Amino acid sequence: MSEQIEERIARLHRHGVIDMHFDLPMDLYDKRDRQNVLATDFLEDLEAGDIAVAAAAIYIHDRYLPEMGLRVALDQIARLYIEVGESDRFAICRSHREILQVREQNKIALLLTMEGVEPLGGDLDLLRVFYELGLRSLCLTHVRRNAAGDGGLFAPSGSPRDGLTSFGRDVIRESEKLGIIIDLAHISPAGFDDIIEMTTKPIIISHTNARKYYDIERNVTDDQIKAIGARGGVIGINAVLVSPHKEEATLDRYIDHIAHVRDLIGIDSVAIGFDFFEFIYRQWSEAEQIAFQNKFTHAHFVPELQKHSHSRSLTRRLIERGFSDAEIERILFGNWMRIFEQWL
Ligand SMILES: [Zn+2]
Repeated sequence: MSEQIEERIARLHRHGVIDMHFDLPMDLYDKRDRQNVLATDFLEDLEAGDIAVAAAAIYIHDRYLPEMGLRVALDQIARLYIEVGESDRFAICRSHREILQVREQNKIALLLTMEGVEPLGGDLDLLRVFYELGLRSLCLTHVRRNAAGDGGLFAPSGSPRDGLTSFGRDVIRESEKLGIIIDLAHISPAGFDDIIEMTTKPIIISHTNARKYYDIERNVTDDQIKAIGARGGVIGINAVLVSPHKEEATLDRYIDHIAHVRDLIGIDSVAIGFDFFEFIYRQWSEAEQIAFQNKFTHAHFVPELQKHSHSRSLTRRLIERGFSDAEIERILFGNWMRIFEQWL
């Protein structure tokens, strides 16, 4: 019986698994004094989890802002290109067609994304530069305020109510025009409404959780989930903000988030945005860890879902929870591929 399930997992993973949020460029930048970091630190785990596409998110740490934001972003992209050049197992992809080609060669496709537009400062022309460098998805903000708008707080209420700035609106308009996927992860509730109102394409949330299980404004309400569904968009479920209670931060609760989104807007609109972060957290000093916990209260890593190789456990549990093969394939792969086909 257990062998049968392993075979079924292998079959369900034959196209691979797509993770729409991974803080890879930041870690490559932090390790810039080393070579072959991608091959040494990441390849084995990504392959063990059958990862097909990983969204590599540019993110700028507070300590570099504002002056160093652009430079660190460019250096993160440089590290990504240099590292990919040193391995024959990865490729940076700019289109749906390139992703298909790279998968034919059995390489891992990396999609360059941006979490917070701080690197742009207030200069819209730089969005075009990042597009030419391969940027294909962006969310306007992390938690902190920037020139585009505000992030949703890690609290049940209190996020700023003024929505997007005119620069934020310009970035959204230009992204939709260029073909940079618009991602509503982290944006404040007011900013969320603004973006839904001013766009027409299928909008995504790369990594978030349902407020039903973790009620903070960084996560999404049922109405917000329905707004994404009405647009034909996709929501990636985050493995870090699964529950405010440590004992409930489990693989089953992660799947509860998937099931909740499916029940509200259908199986075509739910996917994966793991946001695996424990490997970075582990590298921090105790003072940095305390600062993180104070800033983002109650972020609990899910013990059975902390790294990409764990995606096999996720698939096993989805099977045990009664998800059909067709449903699992859409969650793991098909839904994000449809978004790539529509946008890229
Ligand atoms: Zn995030």
